[in-house]
Amino acid sequence: MSDSDPNCLFCRIAAGEIPATLVHRDDDVVAFRDINPQAPTHVLVIPVQHVASAHELTPAHDQSWARVLHVAQQIAEAEGLDRDGYRLVVNIGRNGGQTVDHLHVHLLGGRQMTWPPG
Ligand code: 5GP
Ligand code: ZN
Repeated sequence: MSDSDPNCLFCRIAAGEIPATLVHRDDDVVAFRDINPQAPTHVLVIPVQHVASAHELTPAHDQSWARVLHVAQQIAEAEGLDRDGYRLVVNIGRNGGQTVDHLHVHLLGGRQMTWPPG
């Protein structure tokens, strides 16, 4: 595990090398709007540190992972989603539907979600 991967799209967004519509930035966590939104609010919340997927998390990541979830809460509140609810999604690997190999939480809201997911 390295802190940043120069070939990783989301590391490059976190570093400001590739433009994105940021909604949050601090030393540990960056959040930006998904380029292909699946709901009125669709934000990706990522740890700045490169972690390939949620399956790669170890106890050493506990603090930054908790920070990712707290930032997701704050964004949901700022977007007015806390009253009606919203969905957090973490895709893992090929069968999970993961296409970018940098851990990210999808924050989706502003419409009724369905179950089961596709
Ligand atoms: P995954 O399928 O890995 O769970 O989600 C990756 C997400 O990243 C997709 O929803 C996709 O639309 C989004 N995405 C891919 N490339 C870019 C990009 O360059 N900028 C932004 N803002 N989102 C991206
Ligand atoms: Zn990365």
